[in-house]
Amino acid sequence: MSKHIEVRPEIYTKIRDFMKKLGADDFIKCFNCGTCTVACPIAEVLGIVPFSRKIIRYIMLGLEEDLVNSKEILLCLHCGECSEYCPKGANPAETMHALKTYIIQNYLLKR
Ligand code: SF4
Ligand code: SF4
Repeated sequence: MSKHIEVRPEIYTKIRDFMKKLGADDFIKCFNCGTCTVACPIAEVLGIVPFSRKIIRYIMLGLEEDLVNSKEILLCLHCGECSEYCPKGANPAETMHALKTYIIQNYLLKR
């Protein structure tokens, strides 16, 4: 059975505004090609196939709970390989870095 997804535009706007303040809102250029996944060393080693494309989809759909529960964001090495090969200049490495800050500020520090 497929998972029911509730799209949350207000959450997208909240996260996008946070990312913009950090200068990390290039992810809006993403067109979901998956090149970042091929370039990412942890996607290959850990078998996390859609990373980091999947994480950007979570932002676009406002799936905050999925973002917070994504261990991939905390595992990101910030090596920059994904950004190097992204054909749209969407800078997924910077997205991961800013998202880590978002999660730490909004969730981990409040527990
Ligand atoms: S390579 Fe760039 S455009 Fe393609 S899915 Fe990744 S972030 Fe999006
Ligand atoms: S910066 Fe993070 S998401 Fe991008 S290739 Fe490196 S480990 Fe993967």
